Amino acid sequence: MLSEVADGVWVRQSQWVWSNSIVVRGRGGLTLVDPGIAGAELEELAEEVDRLGLPAVAGFSTHCHWDHLLWHSRFGDVPRYATAANAQTAAGVRERAQAMAAESASGVPLELIGLLTPLPRDGGPVPGTIIEHEAHAIGHAAVLLADRGVLLAGDMLSDVLIPMLDPRRPDQVAAYATALDRLGEAAEHVDVVVPGHGAVAEGPEVAARLAADRAYIDALRRGADPVDTRLEQDWLAGPHQSNLEQARTTSS
Ligand SMILES: [Zn+2]
Repeated sequence: MLSEVADGVWVRQSQWVWSNSIVVRGRGGLTLVDPGIAGAELEELAEEVDRLGLPAVAGFSTHCHWDHLLWHSRFGDVPRYATAANAQTAAGVRERAQAMAAESASGVPLELIGLLTPLPRDGGPVPGTIIEHEAHAIGHAAVLLADRGVLLAGDMLSDVLIPMLDPRRPDQVAAYATALDRLGEAAEHVDVVVPGHGAVAEGPEVAARLAADRAYIDALRRGADPVDTRLEQDWLAGPHQSNLEQARTTSS
């Protein structure tokens, strides 16, 4: 069920890894951010979007992992935007993303996976400010809705998943620390954070999420095994390598 977490910002949580589909009201209509996951859930989401009484005018994908590249024909044939880096990468990983979606969830419209367009410079119909960084995935974007006091964090600042480094690229610990600094600046303007997976953070929980991710990354920087009770995402594409191994390989 969609629940309104701030003026014109709705969230629906999937049964699959607490994934959040987000709907944002903008000037021309609604933007759907990372809708997911199973086909039946996407259909339910389409029905709920219809009930909001405004047209869906765009999609937005925060990053190029399969669970953030989904769409359903009932949302309409509208542009699905992303950072230029995400759009390009998604095109290259489409087949793999389709295979992973087929393996992980039922009824996902596979032919619609990963069809992204670079977001125009002025943001087009997508409201807010894009914060692009290099943590977790190439061209990963958060969306700051400063007028609503909301930050859509993509796959960061989760209460259920630990920070996950991109195993295919170097210097991810530094990239993650930089990204957290930028999200921290953005979070000064908000009191609601919507992560890609997990519970919506409100009020003091926002700072707590940042602190938890920072503590984790600081431990990796020291070469220590972080103490963290959150889960690890092990469904990412590519050979699995733990964050600690990854940090050691890239910092040496
Ligand atoms: Zn994800």
